[in-house]
Amino acid sequence: MIVVMQNGATKEQIQAVVRRVHELGFRPHLSEGQERTIIGVIGDERPIDDSVFRLMDGVEKVVRILKPYKLASRDFHPENTIVPINGVRIGDRSVVIIAGPCAVESREQILETAQAVKEAGAHILRGGAFKPRTSPYSFQGLGYKGLELLAEAKAATGLPVITEVMAPEQVPMVAEVADILQVGTRNMQNYNLLHALGALGRPVLLKRGMMSTMEELLMSAEYILSHGNYRVILCERGIRTFEPYTRNTLDISAVPVLKETTHLPVVVDPSHAAGRWEWVTSLSLAAIAAGADGLEVEVHPHPDKALSDGAQSLRPERFAEMVARARQVAEAVGRTVEG
Ligand code: PEP
Ligand code: MN
Repeated sequence: MIVVMQNGATKEQIQAVVRRVHELGFRPHLSEGQERTIIGVIGDERPIDDSVFRLMDGVEKVVRILKPYKLASRDFHPENTIVPINGVRIGDRSVVIIAGPCAVESREQILETAQAVKEAGAHILRGGAFKPRTSPYSFQGLGYKGLELLAEAKAATGLPVITEVMAPEQVPMVAEVADILQVGTRNMQNYNLLHALGALGRPVLLKRGMMSTMEELLMSAEYILSHGNYRVILCERGIRTFEPYTRNTLDISAVPVLKETTHLPVVVDPSHAAGRWEWVTSLSLAAIAAGADGLEVEVHPHPDKALSDGAQSLRPERFAEMVARARQVAEAVGRTVEG
């Protein structure tokens, strides 16, 4: 349940409710909005009566959240959550663009791509060091060496970086370099990993499982939020359907549905949805028009030589064209692409 404090409730009244939550054996989570403070009572609160809080000073109302996710819901946090990353604000009105290769392959490749995406207008550099590949015989990423190269690209361009973390034991190592830690589609329900990232308290981009519902995505986000780490960005990257033309089916409806049900930012990855570079720009523009807070796009200077996902990677010049068109669509829907 959530305890909604009156507009103008005092610090003491809020503290009294927080103490009561502890006394009853629950965990309080505070959401301090511009108008009022909301206190989430987290745990199995079914046995307690609303009046336990309703009759306390400064309390406006007590609301039971019927959805299985609580902290991720807009009931708990009515305003948009904004995740600041080195001056870039994800979840604000502007559209944030994350771009880079699927995998870090070499020093030259990541430095060249980082420079190119920066010049084209990207705000954040992506690049996988640990790659979750369907086949154990495919390129698995450069691992620690890949992280070092990402750090070099970050220093050279000033772009913040996002990279995937696949296991709880990799978290400290990846956190040394990454400004955002990415959880891939295959790990959305790796609960040990989600707990580790919750405890870490750093920004996380959580990709929707390719066979997961939106509610399951929100429940996974809830694992991270339950640790008090609210810096979670959701990512729609396509789901599996009967349609084989595209690699996955971009569930564009996830954008307005998630924007309504949760306060967390929603980013779209058009590359893994399309599976072919030819369709990436169209899906990107659709995502912006639908209200996405950002895009995560794969870019490679030589897609024909890429060690993973070459077919869906844009060449830098095509990416620059995509960004130009993204600006036009953003403007048409009252948004901006900064830079
Ligand atoms: C990736 O971003 O490179 C990736 C592996 O994506 P996904 O987890 O969505 O397949
Ligand atoms: Mn990829």
